[in-house]
Amino acid sequence: MIHRKQKGKLVVISGFSGVGKGTVVKRLMEDYDHYALSVSMTTRKPRENEVHGVHYYFVGDEEFEKMIAEDGFLEHAGYVGHYYGTPKAFVEKMLEKGIDVILEIEVQGAMQIKEKFPEAVTVFITTPSAQEMENRLEGRKTETAEQISGRFDRAVDEAECMDKYDYVVVNDKLDECVRQLERIISQKPDEHRFNPAFKKRFVKELHEIIAKRAAKKAEKE
Ligand code: 5GP
Repeated sequence: MIHRKQKGKLVVISGFSGVGKGTVVKRLMEDYDHYALSVSMTTRKPRENEVHGVHYYFVGDEEFEKMIAEDGFLEHAGYVGHYYGTPKAFVEKMLEKGIDVILEIEVQGAMQIKEKFPEAVTVFITTPSAQEMENRLEGRKTETAEQISGRFDRAVDEAECMDKYDYVVVNDKLDECVRQLERIISQKPDEHRFNPAFKKRFVKELHEIIAKRAAKKAEKE
């Protein structure tokens, strides 16, 4: 098992869609030069400005399924109709070299990693509120209203998994969030541990937004 020989730390970062976790991770990589970021493979189409090999390896179903068959992934999952997976080789190479590796992945994959690597540090990034999440998703204008609603349905399941993470970080101010994240990875402090009251409030708000979006859709039809 590779985790016995592992020298670097495996860091899993998940979060709701629209919380800006991509921006947080990008800043973490810019501000600190001792991390390696794993580039995932996906079957979803590239968004404008996304580059193959930088943001993702964009592949077809067949190629992805071949990688699964060859046991080429550390973890993989389906998310809103597409496959996403972490190629094994790069991560193993970095860990062997003693470099900490960041995986920005969704919750099913995060749980697979936690099972294989119990010592991995897992962090869930969230917006301060579900309303703020809707604002950010609508503001970035990369998804249709229907896709955003799909992401909210998914967020309910994701929120249920929040308590399985070691830490929950609120991305309110970017600088602060990045700093907190670095501190968590390097020092594993007790603050930012999971807070059940926060989860309860967030889930309630998610359901309110889902109901509001459904009513708005029905009005249009
Ligand atoms: P997006 O399509 O917005 O880039 O990503 C959708 C979701 O897939 C995000 O929650 C992202 O963190 C997750 N994701 C990206 N790469 C991977 C991966 O390799 N494995 C898993 N399980 N999830 C991933």
